Amino acid sequence: MKSFCVIGLGRFGSSVLKSLINNGHEVVAIDTDAKKIDNHKDIATHVMIADATDERVLQNIEIDKFDGVIIAIGRDVQASILTTMIVVESGAKNVVAKATTDVQIKVLTKIGANKIIEPEKDAGNRVADTLIHPDVAEYLDLSDDYSFAKIVVKNPKFNGLTLYQANVTQDYQVNVAFIKKQDGTAGIGKHDTIIEINDVLYVVGNKKDIEKFSEII
Ligand code: ATP
Ligand code: ATP
Ligand code: CA
Repeated sequence: MKSFCVIGLGRFGSSVLKSLINNGHEVVAIDTDAKKIDNHKDIATHVMIADATDERVLQNIEIDKFDGVIIAIGRDVQASILTTMIVVESGAKNVVAKATTDVQIKVLTKIGANKIIEPEKDAGNRVADTLIHPDVAEYLDLSDDYSFAKIVVKNPKFNGLTLYQANVTQDYQVNVAFIKKQDGTAGIGKHDTIIEINDVLYVVGNKKDIEKFSEII
């Protein structure tokens, strides 16, 4: 079990908080807004109505002792920057800050935030990906050209073939790294692995090749 501090309970901070709690971790939540705090008092391990830009507030809760601190303050860029600065200077580990503008990203990087998240941009990219590649369930960019994708077998032509018989690597230049079957069994892709309709394939390859493969499989 780890302990985290989430500062700012907008939609982003709130969902980080819930996810951490659902995974069995402790979360202290801070927000200036009493209503936000009231909405999260039964969810978080501990809640505080406080202004995170007040150095004493963060000192009192020993902000440097947490396994991670998430600064999820949105519109108030000044508060986001000031809070991140105080948190970093305290020596806190794994400082994650939410950003909405390029200037904010620059400043937060300079201050020393360990990770900067742009939720709107990330969600936008993911939506675009699903529109561009409707046959690919999930995309993870490995580099500019390569991706890891989740593809469901739909073409009866491939039903019952081994990866060897399907000639996947030769014909489509992609590698099936992992296969999940409907009955719950799973394993890494080998030449004698049999693929069936509705199997979920986890595929590595060039994006163009993955796209072609996803249309045929
Ligand atoms: P989201 O898109 O995640 O819903 P947002 O980007 O619109 O959020 P805001 O609603 O502006 O972000 O801020 C998120 C939360 O941060 C708010 O609940 C706000 O009350 C809180 N907040 C703002 N400034 C401070 C501060 N100095 N200390 C603590 N909490 C703060
Ligand atoms: P051969 O003896 O004919 O050379 P082999 O038994 O050594 O083959 P591999 O070379 O491992 O088998 O695989 C042969 C073919 O099986 C590959 O060219 C490819 O088409 C398919 N294959 C094997 N593993 C994978 C995988 N992980 N993803 C996709 N295709 C695969
Ligand atoms: Ca992408």
